[in-house]
Amino acid sequence: MNVSAFDLFKLGIGPSSSHTMGPMTAACRFLERLAGQLEQTARVQATLYASLALTGRGHATDRAVILGLSGFEPRRLDPDQADKVVTDVRANQWLNLAGQHGIVFDEARDLLWESRIRLPQHPNALKFSAFDAAGDLLAERTYFSIGGGFVRDEDEMGLNTPPEAAALVEVPYPFDSGEELLQMASDAGLTIAELMRANERARRVDEAIDAGLDEVADAMYACIDRGMRTDGILPGGLNVQRRAFQVHQSLMSDADKRLADPLAALDWVNLWALAVNEENAAGGRVVTAPTNGAAGLVPAVLRYYDRFCQGTQAGRHTFLLTAAAIGALYKKNASISGAEVGCQGEVGVACSMAAAGFAAALGASNAQIENAAEIAMEHNLGLTCDPIGGLVQIPCIERNAMGAVKAIDACRLALLGDGQHTVSLDKVIATMKRTGEDMSHIYKETSLGGLAVNLAEC
Ligand code: SF4
Repeated sequence: MNVSAFDLFKLGIGPSSSHTMGPMTAACRFLERLAGQLEQTARVQATLYASLALTGRGHATDRAVILGLSGFEPRRLDPDQADKVVTDVRANQWLNLAGQHGIVFDEARDLLWESRIRLPQHPNALKFSAFDAAGDLLAERTYFSIGGGFVRDEDEMGLNTPPEAAALVEVPYPFDSGEELLQMASDAGLTIAELMRANERARRVDEAIDAGLDEVADAMYACIDRGMRTDGILPGGLNVQRRAFQVHQSLMSDADKRLADPLAALDWVNLWALAVNEENAAGGRVVTAPTNGAAGLVPAVLRYYDRFCQGTQAGRHTFLLTAAAIGALYKKNASISGAEVGCQGEVGVACSMAAAGFAAALGASNAQIENAAEIAMEHNLGLTCDPIGGLVQIPCIERNAMGAVKAIDACRLALLGDGQHTVSLDKVIATMKRTGEDMSHIYKETSLGGLAVNLAEC
């Protein structure tokens, strides 16, 4: 097993890692295949299948495809620049392929929504086809957005290892399960964070690891800060009012009065999670943790550690490395895709990662960390994905706030014990995967069930 912390914590834009960042990355990968044939290309058609088609409009998959074909990668994209590029393509029906070669792009003809077709490999599939001026096919490739911004092509699907370059690096502690992680750490006399750092050293030196972790934490905090100072209505048509701005004003004005409330810190945790997920819903810059839909939970708990537990830079690094080790277990043994296993794979996994990371930063033993991660997922089992209007707003934004508070409680429960417990993290991950497989597809990022359809009747 070999997933880097920087595969799980990726800088990008909202609102969805699987439906926005993944398709954008897939379009970039298709352009790499087209290199050498760009000049001959007269038309590119993209076809979205199943979940990408069912909730793609709300998740901005159409924008992502346009931006990706225009040569923009999620990591480097400025959201303001993105708006202008998409507006220009739509107004002129003209797309600058890879930023180099202009072609006609008629969205009604060239972006197809096949909601009834589900490819057997994964519910999040999209196909790109390039044609020359005579209409002959130059290249065609199908990609799968498998969650957290990870993308595989048709050859890579079914492989048991992620195709990302970092995954191919030999690491000293190639753990595949929670049990192996604990055993390897115990044998080597390492904490989980130290073990994860040793694996990261196979890819970059310590200074680069620290700089990368600081960049992740800074980007998370910048997102919180932007969310707290931005008011207004979220895009998409649901008319959801941003709340973080008002909540922040209120917390700042009543600070003294709230001192008497022993749970006042939780108001801040709620605020920070809301702030990130409102930014995500607005297409702002976020860090996948491990996905965009669940992007607010880890930052909220990290900031809680910093603000209320005398956090340090070293503690933040421990938090993020430990959270990544836990996230890697889910990535390897279950899924971090809402379209595959429901929201237990997004908010549930983020909750488990945050609980473990927080426990580690507070100095918990490896057994207590594993226990915290297990508790957090055990009480997210069965969590469905039913976003209203296909937008990453309701229930997603509040769900991150609830998940952040749950992660803190899972950590506290684990710290009350010595790490001995009945259900192992591996067992709960296997249960999560099985529950996701048993879950009806209407609860897996299709907006065909749950809140997405019952709102009017309630
Ligand atoms: S309900 Fe959960 S899994 Fe579904 S879009 Fe929202 S955050 Fe993602």
